[in-house]
Amino acid sequence: MRGSEEMEVSVNVRREAVGHIKGVITPLRRTFPYLFKRPFTVMYPKEKLRLSECYRGHIVLELDKCIGCGNCGRACPNGAIDYVLPDDVDPSDRRQVILRRRPAVDHGHCLMCGLCVEACPKQAIHMSKNYGFSASSRLHLISDPYELSGEEHGLRKKIHYLLQTSLMSKAAGREFEDSVKKLEQEYQELRKKRFAGEIVEDEFQRREGELIDEVIRIFNLVDEGVLKA
Ligand code: SF4
Ligand code: SF4
Repeated sequence: MRGSEEMEVSVNVRREAVGHIKGVITPLRRTFPYLFKRPFTVMYPKEKLRLSECYRGHIVLELDKCIGCGNCGRACPNGAIDYVLPDDVDPSDRRQVILRRRPAVDHGHCLMCGLCVEACPKQAIHMSKNYGFSASSRLHLISDPYELSGEEHGLRKKIHYLLQTSLMSKAAGREFEDSVKKLEQEYQELRKKRFAGEIVEDEFQRREGELIDEVIRIFNLVDEGVLKA
């Protein structure tokens, strides 16, 4: 009786040992051939991916080709496009508004669908191959028209342009949306007053500065304090 128990134990031990050996050899057999193949992954961000011809990344804009027709904004299914006017355009001048507005894009809401590109009659808006979307604030994911065309400028200048749009209030999210919307509305009123001569330039600049500070303060609450004024 005792002999058969010992035999059973030794069979179990042998089975367990074979199981362990298989557990080492099987994965090695499966993975060994990949030592001689090109890796599927890359060391991002040091290395860049090789992208297919039709890859859709960040949106870029050729400012000089854009005619302000508004087709891209109408085509966008997710409200990721709104328009910015140059500083010298009176927002109550309908003709100038239509001719000189240029699109800003919130990449945080962009679906990369490419519908805006298809809708553009001047091939002014394109999808680039840029896929680096990491940002420390949602505000950094919104690009004004000048940034879309490759210009680099500071955060305050970006907000100065974006206050004309509704993109920041949308990006701020439900809890802060109304607060940012109020700032956008106030800025648009302020701009109208400036062109109507109801407010002097110094006063306009002072109030605009305060609105920009307030946007930064709110986005620091949204994104837990990463923006510098
Ligand atoms: S790619 Fe699509 S979602 Fe993105 S801005 Fe253009 S139309 Fe809108
Ligand atoms: S980018 Fe194209 S579709 Fe959009 S406003 Fe300019 S011309 Fe029109």
